Amino acid sequence: MHPITDSFNRPLHDLRISVIDRCNFRCTYCMPEEEGKSYTFLKKSQWLSFGEILRLTKLFVRLGVTKVRLTGGEPLLRPQLPELIRDLNKIPGMEDLALTTNGALLSKQAQSLKDAGLRRLTVSLDALDEKTFQQMSGRRGNLFEVLKGITTAEDAGFESIKFNVVLQRGINDHAILDLVKYFKGSGHILRFIEYMDVGNCNHWESKEVVPSREILKIINEKYPIKPLGANYFGEVAERYAFADGTGEVGFISSVSQPFCGTCTRARLSTDGKIYTCLFATKGTDLRTPLRSGATDEELITVIKNVWQKRADKYSENRALFRSLKENPQKVEMYQIGG
Ligand code: SAM
Ligand code: SF4
Ligand code: SF4
Repeated sequence: MHPITDSFNRPLHDLRISVIDRCNFRCTYCMPEEEGKSYTFLKKSQWLSFGEILRLTKLFVRLGVTKVRLTGGEPLLRPQLPELIRDLNKIPGMEDLALTTNGALLSKQAQSLKDAGLRRLTVSLDALDEKTFQQMSGRRGNLFEVLKGITTAEDAGFESIKFNVVLQRGINDHAILDLVKYFKGSGHILRFIEYMDVGNCNHWESKEVVPSREILKIINEKYPIKPLGANYFGEVAERYAFADGTGEVGFISSVSQPFCGTCTRARLSTDGKIYTCLFATKGTDLRTPLRSGATDEELITVIKNVWQKRADKYSENRALFRSLKENPQKVEMYQIGG
């Protein structure tokens, strides 16, 4: 089957699956821990089962998806995750399976993830000094444990790990060169992601965003870098190589240089809703038809309708959306997973 396309002719290529909405961190830019604030999470009975995830993924693959990323909340909190990975890997037509984690549980799980056939790993890491790391993770993280997890992952055979860094001005923007120095020459790839106004609970303000151009300049002054071409259509990271041949660094400039025109990603929430944009206000429920006996063809029709009607371009029109008087309730990052 040819990939289906949306109303701007964007094909459906990628699927992000949130396997759990709970998290063991409280990152300041995602689930800030404020006084009196408590998060409400889904009940286990509301989670899609592995069988349900597998069935839906097969249908998404029939509609054009070739790349799948498991995410959360913190995906390593989902019990028996390697079983899901093993089964997803067997889907014909699925070319790439990756996972994004905060790394806290990696030292315990890296080997079983590798044994289950996970090939690509992304670890989020926002600072290398304990004080800032503590602050960024809402005092829930342990930097030593994350670094230990990274070593375990390397030993288990994960070769080129991607590291996601979100900078918030005044909180961890001093960590740029430390992070670059640490990963340069390691074979891993560091990527700076601009802080986005996903959801409502992070109380995003544009002044807290450190634009990629600024980060690039800071890096280039100390460690000269030169632009590299994209690996594939729709790649969101702009890639740069260190001039001394010690690897590369990427920039995901979702705020300063939006890339909605090539956005080919659908997102499946833990409770089985499909979202067509990170900044969506609502998703379409697939779990109810799934649990009431819908056939594959019926489910395909629902997914197709959602994608073919898709007209999301939030980042390209951010200023307009944010100028609206009413503040829409957007889905939170921990519910659909980055
Ligand atoms: N818990 C896992 C982790 O942190 O890697 C997976 C889920 S997390 C929501 C996925 C990615 O989204 C992480 O790399 C995180 O840094 C990023 N993220 C979360 N909130 C963000 C925001 N407001 N702006 C930009 N990136 C964000
Ligand atoms: Fe948890 Fe990841 Fe969100 Fe941090 S970014 S609070 S680790 S889901
Ligand atoms: Fe894709 Fe929405 Fe982000 Fe644009 S704003 S790149 S459509 S997720």
